[in-house]
Amino acid sequence: MRKKIIAANWKMNMTLAEAELFLANFTLEVGDSTDVEMVIAPPFTAIAKVSDLLSRNQNIKLGAQNMHPATNGAYTGEISIGMLRELYVRYIILGHSERRSIFGETDAFINEKVKAALAGQLRPILCVGETLEQRDANEVESVLERQLTGGLAGIDAEHVHDVVIAYEPVWAIGTGRTASPEQAQSAHAHIRKVLGTIAGEAVAAKIRIQYGGSVKPDNTEALMSQPDIDGALVGGASLDARSFSEIVKATARLLQ
Ligand code: PEP
Repeated sequence: MRKKIIAANWKMNMTLAEAELFLANFTLEVGDSTDVEMVIAPPFTAIAKVSDLLSRNQNIKLGAQNMHPATNGAYTGEISIGMLRELYVRYIILGHSERRSIFGETDAFINEKVKAALAGQLRPILCVGETLEQRDANEVESVLERQLTGGLAGIDAEHVHDVVIAYEPVWAIGTGRTASPEQAQSAHAHIRKVLGTIAGEAVAAKIRIQYGGSVKPDNTEALMSQPDIDGALVGGASLDARSFSEIVKATARLLQ
C-alpha cells in the first residue's frame, strides 16, 4: 500500500517569524498524525530554522525547492546536496514548472539533478505536467512521457522506486483552476503506465504520484480518493497552517 504524501511548497514566501508561527499552529493541528507523510519545503533562508523547530517531530519531513547537482564550487547563488543534508533535508522538489519556464531548466539538467539527489540520499519529488496549449493540442500523454523518460533517464529501477512524481498541470498551478478528479486520475494512470515501461510494473505500482495544482481543503477528498493519486504537492494553500492542516486531515480521513 502506498502511503499518501502531502507536501508544502512555500516557494519564495515565509519569513523566519512567519515560518515559526506556521509551525506552531500546524503542529498543534496535525503534529501527531502518522497516517499521512507530511513534507514542508521552505525557502532556503528558513530551512535551518524549520529544521530546528521540527527536530523533535519525526512525522513532518523537511524538503527543499531546488539544488545544484555539483558537489561544491563556483556556482554563485546555488545550494549543494551536502548543504541540504547537513540541515536534515530529506526531499527535494525538482523540475517544477516555474523552474522549467522561468529559469529555463531542461529535462537533461533535471535528470542530472535527479541522479545527483539520489546518489546523495535526497528523495526527489519530480514534477511533470502539461501547459494549457499542450492539453488543447492533445499532447498530455506525450508531454508526460517526454518529461518522465528525460527526467529518469539512466536511473535503475531500484532507485526510480525512491522518486516521488508530482503531476502538476501548469494551467492549474496558482490559478485556482483545479484538474477535475477524472482528468487528474487519467493523467496519473498514464504516468504509472510510463513508469512501468521505465522501471517495470512492480516498481511502478509502488511509486507515489502526487497531484498538484490549486489543491484546497474543499477539493482534497475528491482528488485524493482517486486510485492513482497518492498525495498532493500544495503551493498557495500550504502558506496557511489552517488550510494546509485541513488538507492533511481530509486525506487522513480517507484512510479510516
Ligand atoms: C505548486 O506550485 O507546486 C502548486 C501546486 O501551487 P498551487 O497549489 O498554488 O497551485
